[in-house]
Amino acid sequence: MKFIEQVLVYSLTLLVITSNAQSIKSPSSDWLKTNTEKCFDWYKYLHANPELSSQEEKTSTYLKAIVSNFGYTIIDSLGLHSFAAVLKNGNGPVVLFRTDMDGLPVKESTGLPYASNQFVQQNGKSVSVMHACGHDFHMATWLSAASILSQNKKSWSGTIIFLAQSAEEIAQGAKGVLSSNQYSKLPKSDFLFAIHDNSELEAGTAGFCNNYAMAGVDMMNITLYGKGGHGAAPYKTIDPILLAANFITELQSIVSRNLSSNDPAVITVGAINGGEIGNVIPNQVDLKLTIRSFDQKARAIILNRIKTIGDNLARAAGLTDDKLPKYDLLDMTVPAVYNDPILGEKLKKSIVQHVGASAVKEVPAVMIGEDFGMYSGLDHAIPSYIVWMGTQTKNKIDSYTQQKKDFPTLHSSYYYPEFEEALPASIKIVTACLFDLFK
Ligand SMILES: [Zn+2]
Ligand SMILES: [Zn+2]
Repeated sequence: MKFIEQVLVYSLTLLVITSNAQSIKSPSSDWLKTNTEKCFDWYKYLHANPELSSQEEKTSTYLKAIVSNFGYTIIDSLGLHSFAAVLKNGNGPVVLFRTDMDGLPVKESTGLPYASNQFVQQNGKSVSVMHACGHDFHMATWLSAASILSQNKKSWSGTIIFLAQSAEEIAQGAKGVLSSNQYSKLPKSDFLFAIHDNSELEAGTAGFCNNYAMAGVDMMNITLYGKGGHGAAPYKTIDPILLAANFITELQSIVSRNLSSNDPAVITVGAINGGEIGNVIPNQVDLKLTIRSFDQKARAIILNRIKTIGDNLARAAGLTDDKLPKYDLLDMTVPAVYNDPILGEKLKKSIVQHVGASAVKEVPAVMIGEDFGMYSGLDHAIPSYIVWMGTQTKNKIDSYTQQKKDFPTLHSSYYYPEFEEALPASIKIVTACLFDLFK
């Protein structure tokens, strides 16, 4: 066969496959016909009633009550308010689908009829709470998928674990689950799956990023010491403000000069506190940093260089070894999220087949962190994937593009998913993926 004929036959075969593919009904279609309003009610209730990280008691009770009615066995005590709903349905793979449950300390500005008015008292202050990261959207998708799988047991075989996780925003949830005794008693997962809503993608599209998709996160507090004194006689002091200024500037050389240009990383000093008044040189300055990286070796280089630069600048300023900076790596470290490429291709195929080729979109990696990456381990032993889920309508995207406006980002008090379009689409995409993972 000549090349041009080969191309023709290949194109025709593709055409047949694609048109057949689009005629395959999504397993969620029937469910959505009768349950869309119910799922919207779940979403609106969850949006209006957010709770802060590790305080998700009511949210967890709400989810448990609903999934228990679907016939799932509840496994409690997975750390904080985390729990699992398990359904064993014959032989086959074990698939874990995680949702997070926590909101953020943000005062909602969306003006939506179902906006959150919730607040909690913290340290004598009233703190507003909002689902500004869309975890309410994840939970509504999760509940719907749990209902669909329980109603369609003839269409799959294996064990599904619906995991509801506390405290994602403060990186304590996955850690709590993994270190709990109960987690080790759950069936060992063959595949790990999660979604995260996306503030820019169109509803009905799923964003894929194979390999490293979200950055590893470290949070560090650093205290720089000095020798305080009169602001008019700095030569009699060791000025920690000047030391901090040099240190912060020098930190920016790590990414640009110590890491390979193939290793994306970020070092941000988000807080600097020292001194009270212009004519007093203080004794110390406190810094708060976030460090983002993908590769473990790059992370090690960054941590090492921060200490080397800090110690040696302090020495150069005249400080003795007992006054070198103090580096506190906070207990909030999460590894980078690694999306298994083979699993990614399998999920894409399922979505193309059941939802359509236009539902799959390639997206770049981001420096945002997620503790979902912890479940597959540092060696990525269990194939794991987190899919970005579109939440904007096409009209809104067009109008924002025309006006050259940016969408409110995740964590913004103005962000919300256009749930009436996005939620049914998310349910279709997720169930297409879950059913196929059992094949
Ligand atoms: Zn978030
Ligand atoms: Zn989130």
